[in-house]
Amino acid sequence: MTHHTSSANGCTTPVTIKRYRPATEIVHIDTTSDTAPSQGPGSFAKDPYHAASVPIYQTATFKQPGANGSGEYDYSRSGNPTRSHVESHLAKIMHAQRAFVVSSGMTALDAILRLVKAGEHIIAGDDLYGGTNRLLTYVATHGDVQVTHVDTTQPLAVMESLDPVKTRLVLLETPTNPLIKIADIPTIANLVHRTCPGAFVVVDNTMMSPYLQKPLDMGADIVYHSGTKYLSGHHDLMAGVIGTKTTALAEKVYHVINATGCGLSPFDSWLLLRGVKTLAVRMEKQQANAQRIASFLLEKGFTVHYPGNPAHPQYQLHMSMARGPGAVLSFETGDVTLSERIVEATKLWGISVSFGCVNSLISMPCRMSHASIPAHVRQQRALPEDLIRLCVGIEDPDDLLDDLANALRVAGALPPVINKATSKQ
Ligand SMILES: *Cc1c(COP(=O)(O)O)cnc(C)c1O
Repeated sequence: MTHHTSSANGCTTPVTIKRYRPATEIVHIDTTSDTAPSQGPGSFAKDPYHAASVPIYQTATFKQPGANGSGEYDYSRSGNPTRSHVESHLAKIMHAQRAFVVSSGMTALDAILRLVKAGEHIIAGDDLYGGTNRLLTYVATHGDVQVTHVDTTQPLAVMESLDPVKTRLVLLETPTNPLIKIADIPTIANLVHRTCPGAFVVVDNTMMSPYLQKPLDMGADIVYHSGTKYLSGHHDLMAGVIGTKTTALAEKVYHVINATGCGLSPFDSWLLLRGVKTLAVRMEKQQANAQRIASFLLEKGFTVHYPGNPAHPQYQLHMSMARGPGAVLSFETGDVTLSERIVEATKLWGISVSFGCVNSLISMPCRMSHASIPAHVRQQRALPEDLIRLCVGIEDPDDLLDDLANALRVAGALPPVINKATSKQ
């Protein structure tokens, strides 16, 4: 156990946090003491009854002690105790000075993008989540904001696009989805901060979750997650999470959330907190399963995109930033209709967009999650139309392998097995 003082991060008030190992931090939710990072004056709710599960404060308003207000909470758009609990907990596991929960991952990005003014410039990757691409396009066409897409696997490409005056935000995803390309967070953050002191480095950390990767420790200013994915883990809610490195940035983000009213509802906050407690065990199991699936596909000769594969061109870089490769991988078959037959022949793998659920999912990104990116842009960005994405769950890996192998055979991607019972006769 170490003591962490985050005053070095430029925070106004140093916070001393008792640190356990990550799996312990994730499940340990303290409702009785002040060890969690400050969520602002009075916003860390203490439960007087020491409930093992944080209560759902299903209320829009809070009565005030007097005519001048001054209660800890007054209106749930501005703050709610259940939301404060999950925010404190997430701040702790993200190593954020402060965290916020909002109604979806896209809302998290929307709140962050509101820090950019008309006439300013955003740099983002060229292999992005489809919804991120759509929102950036909206901002570019409606908000007079210039958006440049670059290959973020090349820090120099980012460097060359930086405008010391206009660039306000550099948005990274690593690993990218679905091509699993890796961006060097520390190097890019360093370059951006040196060249553009007014720019923020923002990382979408949805693919890794805070259990596997902590961008704020590597120089990022803001990190966000779709809480719909690994943080909640069961595909039973939509949520977004934002973590900031400094209280100054936290105040800006909070202002947007309060002004627009996108804070997460009390019930969904409770559900998110319930889900996040099992993040470490889910991630360990999902990752172990994914590693077996990736090895199987590699052995069968497919082109596999997975950062846990030592032949991945950026394996070392990924492993220097993250505790593991995660549980999302993609592979190419060389033929779009073959890919369609494979996806449709699986029985255990659910055909679904999204990932991070306890159940295993299969999809064709170009037809599903990334269909909102125009075909010519997908082509420019070398997104293979035949790509199959696998989001591995917590099932018995032998069942997952059997089902996938069977689908590959039915589709004609693998030769049929000789039925042993028949060949004996
Ligand atoms: C799902 C996802 C989002 C958007 O989150 P929602 O909760 O669906 O709004 C953003 N980034 C990545 C990488 C995602 O996978």
